Amino acid sequence: MSQLMISISGVRGVIGEGLTPEIVIAFAQAFGTYCNGGRVVIGRDSRVSGPMLHGLVTGSLLATGCEVVDLGIAPTPTTQFATEKQHSAGGIILTASHNPVMWNGLKLLAPDGLFLDEAEGAKVNTLRVNGSYARKSWEQLGRLTSYSNAVGDHLQAVLSLPEINVEQIRRRRFKVVADCVNGAGGVIVPQLLEQLGCEAVYLNLEPHGRFPRNPEPMPENLGQLGRAVTAHHADLGLAVDPDADRLALVSEKGVPLGEEYTLALAVDFMLRRKRGKVVANVSTSRVLDDLAAKYGCPLERTKVGEINVARRMREVGAVIGGEGNGGVILPEVHLGRDAVVGIALILQHLSDAGMPLSELNRTLPQYTMCRRKLALPDKQKAAAVLQKLEEIYAHEQMDRLDGIKILRDRSWVQVRASNTEPILRVMSEAPTAEAAGHLCDEIMQALQQ
Ligand code: MG
Repeated sequence: MSQLMISISGVRGVIGEGLTPEIVIAFAQAFGTYCNGGRVVIGRDSRVSGPMLHGLVTGSLLATGCEVVDLGIAPTPTTQFATEKQHSAGGIILTASHNPVMWNGLKLLAPDGLFLDEAEGAKVNTLRVNGSYARKSWEQLGRLTSYSNAVGDHLQAVLSLPEINVEQIRRRRFKVVADCVNGAGGVIVPQLLEQLGCEAVYLNLEPHGRFPRNPEPMPENLGQLGRAVTAHHADLGLAVDPDADRLALVSEKGVPLGEEYTLALAVDFMLRRKRGKVVANVSTSRVLDDLAAKYGCPLERTKVGEINVARRMREVGAVIGGEGNGGVILPEVHLGRDAVVGIALILQHLSDAGMPLSELNRTLPQYTMCRRKLALPDKQKAAAVLQKLEEIYAHEQMDRLDGIKILRDRSWVQVRASNTEPILRVMSEAPTAEAAGHLCDEIMQALQQ
């Protein structure tokens, strides 16, 4: 993998290799110039490289005349929420999300707390490439302030949702094991669980940024959590990624449900309460199609990427949406993936249903996904390969929203070029693991012909 990944809304890289101080300063000065001396909110996850990045970014923003509002260690959704509420010109989150500990990065936010879109990101990038930064004199430098109640504001917004009955959840006295992977979730998850009257057991709580395992909350990384749930006879287990926008659930039997079922359960809960539109990316489980049909609600699909989902949600006035990787978006709070929102909705759902999580999950249609990668000799080849595949499967039902998605009876397989690496991602879903595997095999063979 390349050691520096420049995306629409920021940059990510390995510290000391791709993500050098020079790159960080260039991005931060470009963004400060783009924000034109306005207010910029900064939050960071708990990574060891966070303070170093924070110094570089803060100094660069002040140099371009921006007022910097520092949140300290804060989850991505908290920073998104604060950027909007503080009437800012923009925001920056210092995080590499679920990437391993040696990575870090800058995620750039628009005044509404959404990630920059393609046009906005291109403007920042042009400023960076041209090195055309605002350079202020000593009396025009920006001012540095800190704001310590961003977590409190965010929690307050979640707990005052009309769908959340705090007293009802408190009466259940849920026993919860929460794994914050020593990330930014550690500054908010305990407060949330305490307010909801949970008896909580914590794993990897302290936000010191030395992740004890692969920090992506995939089932294969949640063994410690599963064992703790059974050892403590807990009602459920929760795992968040280092910047706490993704949430994964573990049943009372210690079994991870798979991230797709976080959003599925949240959608099931919301549509029971409030009928309306649902938006998800094209790679999210078809369990959402089944749920939308069950409740008679329209489901819209978008290209992969939080910004695509969030924008579409706003356009159509969706009641809920998100991405299958554990990213629940509830527009009543803000238009970003939010594990705090996810936890509150799931606890309310469990409280209403009055059954164990494994049983509640079994009320949903069950599907399994399979994921593969195919290396490309170079990124330009992707279009030609996809074209060939389209010809081979021309007789089948196909969705061309993002790469190619072949739709079959209760199953699908998708091939799309990665935005960041010279690879094709192959992803399938079917009612059994075996059927999903066969679909991936079939496409891998067709690709290698
Ligand atoms: Mg994340």
